[in-house]
Amino acid sequence: MRLSLFAVTAASLLLSQSASAQTTPATELSKLIETKLTAVMPKVVAWRRDIHEHPELSFEEKRTAALVAEHLRALGIEVQAPIGKTGVVGILRGGKPGPVVALRADMDGLPVTELVDLPFKSKVRTQWQGQEVGVMHACGHDNHVAILMGAAEVLAGMKAQIPGTIKFLFQPAEEGLGGAAAMVADGALANPAPSAVFGLHVWPNEVGQIAIRQGPIMAAAGNFKIIVKGRQTHGSQPWSGVDPIVVSSQIVLGLQTIASRQVNVAYLPSVLTVGQIAGGNRSNIIPDSVVMVGTLRTFDDNMRADIAMRIKRTAEDIARSGGATAIVEIDKGGLVTSNDSSLTDRMLPTLRRAANGNVAFINPVMGSEDFPVFAQKIPGVFFFLGVTPKGTDLSKVAVNHSPLFFADEGALVTGVRTMASVAVEYLSMNAGKKSAN
Ligand SMILES: [Zn+2]
Ligand SMILES: [Zn+2]
Repeated sequence: MRLSLFAVTAASLLLSQSASAQTTPATELSKLIETKLTAVMPKVVAWRRDIHEHPELSFEEKRTAALVAEHLRALGIEVQAPIGKTGVVGILRGGKPGPVVALRADMDGLPVTELVDLPFKSKVRTQWQGQEVGVMHACGHDNHVAILMGAAEVLAGMKAQIPGTIKFLFQPAEEGLGGAAAMVADGALANPAPSAVFGLHVWPNEVGQIAIRQGPIMAAAGNFKIIVKGRQTHGSQPWSGVDPIVVSSQIVLGLQTIASRQVNVAYLPSVLTVGQIAGGNRSNIIPDSVVMVGTLRTFDDNMRADIAMRIKRTAEDIARSGGATAIVEIDKGGLVTSNDSSLTDRMLPTLRRAANGNVAFINPVMGSEDFPVFAQKIPGVFFFLGVTPKGTDLSKVAVNHSPLFFADEGALVTGVRTMASVAVEYLSMNAGKKSAN
């Protein structure tokens, strides 16, 4: 065992030595990145503020996409747009042969009215589900776009030294509408096909800190709907009908025993939340039916299927016990964001260098992402970039999607350095290997 491990190490050493003979060493490339950062950072801050002030909802990112495409073209980067309705792909072909790597940034804002008092606060308003509401980059995707635009500028400036090709994926509609799938359907991962993909998300951790874990890092999200059918009657005589409100209340409590009593909590976490209950229209009428909708968060496909079966069984059997019926619909849900362990391992020194050593290992996050749509066929690494100002009590900070979500711009430089570094260092690590294309 030891011998074969040594043999692999020796072989890969030889490989990297022969590769580095023809390519610029990774350390030289990171020095080159550093020299270009200073000039780019004021622009990154300006782009971020501009995008923050002009947020656009999912699949409406026309202004943002135009800004990105114009910037990439000005840098001499090949642009494909629109890809996935409002997405943009940039292709930077380096001066040396090597593989292809993809960097991803999502571009959409949310129907949230901004409450942060900034000079570049969003004043955009829209109609959302029949109500007028503000639009805000409450998930911080404005930072992601500006960071990747900055990384593109840094990388375009050192094109001759880059051993391979870098694909920039500016993705629309991350917030639930399937922007990543739309881009993949339009060929974002083909011609040339990347062999790895990297992405980051701003997060309410300490500013400039990179937070990561190997394996599952963000949950798969799925929705479910339960319609409880009873029989309408007068509120004063429930015995002449079937009360779906009481049955629904029992179902909500029954569902909570799935995660706490029926699945192995020591294996991986799961969360099941009923987020909405609708039924009835006045105090003295027992309604005919109640509709409940909720979300299920899991980290394992088999566990998800098992919980889905239990949701159905719990709802149907509790309803039957009260003389009601339950119709249960559970969607097939999204994907788990899972970091490829060996790629994460190999990129850790790069991440540490880019974040000045400030890399933390974290527990899985129950939020979800559509980054794994890119990373399901090729290895992917996804990490969080802290944007909470130093000295803030992290237990009280406004999280993503809050109207008070605030991103400290001090993190932007770490973001640009990290994205540019993972791309060139991944390419130089694999420069000895031929591209898939
Ligand atoms: Zn979000
Ligand atoms: Zn987000």
